[in-house]
Amino acid sequence: METPNTDLVFNVAQLLKEPLGSNRKFDIGAPELRLSEQTDRPDAEALEARGVAGNVKITRLSKDLLVQGKVSADVRLECSRCLTAFSLPVEGRLEENYQPTVDVDTGRPVRREADEEDDTAFSISPNHELDLTGPVRQALLVALPLKPLCREDCAGLCPQCGADLNEGPCDCQPDTTDDRWEALRELSLQDLPTGDGNLN
Ligand SMILES: [Zn+2]
Ligand SMILES: [Zn+2]
Repeated sequence: METPNTDLVFNVAQLLKEPLGSNRKFDIGAPELRLSEQTDRPDAEALEARGVAGNVKITRLSKDLLVQGKVSADVRLECSRCLTAFSLPVEGRLEENYQPTVDVDTGRPVRREADEEDDTAFSISPNHELDLTGPVRQALLVALPLKPLCREDCAGLCPQCGADLNEGPCDCQPDTTDDRWEALRELSLQDLPTGDGNLN
């Protein structure tokens, strides 16, 4: 089991007892966060965010808590052209609803009518903790470019020898010659009279 990062988990028991519209502001943060949530990105399993930092405002609505805020982090990525690992600073926004699972006054499970179900909402734990890990991961993942580049004008790898062209040109000849012309050229060179020697 993953140990919860205390800087992304907040106890909201007190806020749940306060009048509608009450809010709290929190700084959020984590030194490291694995972005291993299920996602369409095949590389998300290996992605790691460092220096996660941001802030949120949590507001009490009639049934839910509304979390709004922003988060930034450095994410280790692989350049899609030259395959070099690099760190990209990214910024994401948070806006999520959190539903209580246990009534803070009675301690009983919260029952919801079918028409009150919100599949997109997150749950507040039975001990009234609100865990921002999931939304923070999502916010950072959607902020990532689909084809990361170590720099805008990355020269990429040579398609012939695989050399990193950012470090300078490789020894490969530009592939502009056609093999058939190459054969012809060799032939005509051999057919040319040598000339040398005749002048002696
Ligand atoms: Zn690159
Ligand atoms: Zn090359």
